[in-house]
Amino acid sequence: REAEAWQARFEPAQTRDGHRVEVAANLGNTAHAADAVERGAEGIGLLRTEFLFMAHAREPDLATQIEEYREALDALEGRPLVARTLDVGGDKPLPYWPVPKEDNPFLGLRGIRLSLTRPEVLETQLRALLMAAAPASEAADKPRPLRIMLPMVKDVGEFRAARAIFERLLDEIPAAERATDVQLGVMIEVPSAALLAPVLAAEVDFFSVGTNDLTQYTLAIDRDHPELSAQADGLHPAVLRLIEMTVAAAHAHGKWVGVCGELASDTLAVPVLVGLGVDELSVSARQVPLVKARLREFDLTEARGQAQLALAQATSEAVRDALEVR
Ligand code: PEP
Ligand code: MG
Repeated sequence: REAEAWQARFEPAQTRDGHRVEVAANLGNTAHAADAVERGAEGIGLLRTEFLFMAHAREPDLATQIEEYREALDALEGRPLVARTLDVGGDKPLPYWPVPKEDNPFLGLRGIRLSLTRPEVLETQLRALLMAAAPASEAADKPRPLRIMLPMVKDVGEFRAARAIFERLLDEIPAAERATDVQLGVMIEVPSAALLAPVLAAEVDFFSVGTNDLTQYTLAIDRDHPELSAQADGLHPAVLRLIEMTVAAAHAHGKWVGVCGELASDTLAVPVLVGLGVDELSVSARQVPLVKARLREFDLTEARGQAQLALAQATSEAVRDALEVR
């Protein structure tokens, strides 16, 4: 099966009946973008930019960031780049950006909350992303699609604060020197954001569901807990209901939804997510050919049936049992 999946890796990602679902790669290092394309990725669905920051002894300046983001965009040759702004704090400390000791770092200063305490860092990063995605001068007609997403957003207040910086930059930077095809979206990984998806969907350009954190915060189980993490299963019906609400809200506003957490590469979950209406799956580069192959095994009607079956269960164990039986 693996050899077959590899052979077909450049075929478009779609279900047996031709329903397109984009399959992209999660990356922590822009030097790996070319490899992701070679494995059949249709874009980068999550660039974890905190790893770029962690690789430097101090905050990378504008020129350094532009160079790194450009490396990914060059390798993508017109495929979209979904870049997440700095997501540190919680489980991901940044040595040169110390956060006062917290009793509950997972509930503390992290993600967008932390970024908004240092707006000049966020501004430099947004500027670098926008400038890196300027169409190359020798190919001004070739857009370099850029999707910027904000981590750990809990409500529209945080989104608006970040958008204000983003919009000021769009005004400030001459149009020829910045991205022309750009969207600003949020990750859905805090339950409040999923519950308020109808409010957010009116203002954002897209959602990407981070099932790792969404599961952790919905079930109140540390995703890295040595004994409990196995119970932090994204196929829990509570998590699936939040994803269902998120997709419904996005589509009602004509916006797209990706899933970039671990759940996107789970064999049982793929048809469920497609059945819920998810438009893009972003998985580790190694998994891209397998997820594409998995999509070709079912049609949209079957996927919708799997989604309804999963939503009707009471526990994640029941969901897995119900999906396995078929
Ligand atoms: C997530 O939370 O699901 C996610 C994709 O982000 P990270 O794993 O980097 O927290
Ligand atoms: Mg996360």
